[in-house]
Amino acid sequence: MACSALRTVVLTTRPLLQFRAAPAGALHFSTTTPAAGEKKHYKLCIVGGGAAGISNGSKFGRKLGKGNVCIVEPSEVHYYQPMWTLVGGGVKSLTQSGKAMADVMPQTVDWIKAGAEEFSPENNLVRCSDGTEITYDYLIVAMGLQLHYEKVKGLPEAFQYEGVGSNFSSKYVEKTFRAIQNFKGGNAIFTFPNTPIKCAGAPQKIMYLADDYWTRNNVRDKANISYNTALPVVFGVKKYAAILADLCQRRNLKINYRHNLVEVIPDKKEAVFEHLDTGEKITFPYDMIHITPPMGPLEVLKKSPLADSVGWVDVDKQTLQHVRYPNVFSTGDCSSLPTSKTAAAVAAQCGILYNNLSAIMDSQEPGKKYDGYTSCPLVTSRGKCILAEFDYDLQPLETFPVDQGKERRTMWHLKANLMPEIYWTGLLKGRWAGPGFYRKAMRLGMGK
Ligand code: FAD
Repeated sequence: MACSALRTVVLTTRPLLQFRAAPAGALHFSTTTPAAGEKKHYKLCIVGGGAAGISNGSKFGRKLGKGNVCIVEPSEVHYYQPMWTLVGGGVKSLTQSGKAMADVMPQTVDWIKAGAEEFSPENNLVRCSDGTEITYDYLIVAMGLQLHYEKVKGLPEAFQYEGVGSNFSSKYVEKTFRAIQNFKGGNAIFTFPNTPIKCAGAPQKIMYLADDYWTRNNVRDKANISYNTALPVVFGVKKYAAILADLCQRRNLKINYRHNLVEVIPDKKEAVFEHLDTGEKITFPYDMIHITPPMGPLEVLKKSPLADSVGWVDVDKQTLQHVRYPNVFSTGDCSSLPTSKTAAAVAAQCGILYNNLSAIMDSQEPGKKYDGYTSCPLVTSRGKCILAEFDYDLQPLETFPVDQGKERRTMWHLKANLMPEIYWTGLLKGRWAGPGFYRKAMRLGMGK
């Protein structure tokens, strides 16, 4: 029943809008952006205009009205990054995954087109790269995370060679599909680093799409495919880990656990891994390699008083409020929230954040509690997907009244066609706070 309803929604979904780059020098007429170097005060300052920043900007812009909310964001383009799995897999184009930042910036906020360079929360102050100084009553930090290709010897230079790709950057994602298309057999390696990353399922989803592509194009018999992961498990949630380990065995995808990529030597087509338990260095020859880089907090946050001991914004895991500065909140990849970093998590967090920050603005206690909800659509081939959904305790928190551990075509349509629409027209407009409501409704109010 639920699945047929889902199919109907998928089939009636509008085609994706094409990305239109803003013309050079185009003005963003919807805001009264302060001139560079100006001092300006806002009731709410949001730093970062990614998934979390734009969603919060839409919600609070509506609540507080024009002139009261700003978003500090340097990029001209906003990407729907979850689509990059499908871009690397040759199912979608990079163009389909982006829109001009001006087109997603809420009409009700001022866009400060600069990067935040310094946080001074004692003075309620953010200094920007263009000299603008913003003081605020409330601050939301939503700056995403830093990719560290440079921490692997030989990167990023190796991306100049054929056969090397990475879905995690707009610069390299198209190289992934080129590498998959040009692969005529030999060793194909897919890596997972020894750090927290965004979308922990993405490093293996691209392996499944590549495997499927080579099967369809009669190359698979000539391919040795391995998944070299720094982790001791294939996925953090037991239910899905068992299913994925079984799938890898059936499809002859070799998993090498505790293997951390430390060097790429592109002229020799070799990748060097460190075995994290023995310290041994092992060299793998490759004909194609997909790299998931090490990731970590942004430098600007690491050096700020907002950071925890690692550099993530130090917030309460239930309320999303900063543990030392009560007028500061954080959400998304830059936060210390101990859940898998995804846009799905951002959606659920934004609902909680809106309620709790609104309560603080009304001099009340923050009453809503985040349960760590996150989700990972594990694409297993072109046309099939396992929809993993889980909480802080790594317990499944599935929305649909079917076993989501099974590969399903409906979940593929959800991932490939419906989720982008939910992102652009729901999350970014501040109208989507995750599937919690639907999950309860489908379970007739019972369960979490
Ligand atoms: P981002 O969306 O990364 O936004 C951060 C923003 O901060 C950016 O706009 C950046 O320009 C800005 N910024 C950076 N520095 C500064 C500064 N100094 N000052 C001001 N602004 C700054 N999620 C899912 O839910 N499902 C998936 O299937 C999925 N698949 C993924 C596959 C891939 C290959 C990748 C790369 C990601 C995937 N994700 C997926 C993860 C998801 O895209 C992120 O978790 C999500 O975008 C996080 O949102 P965010 O707002 O925290 O960070």
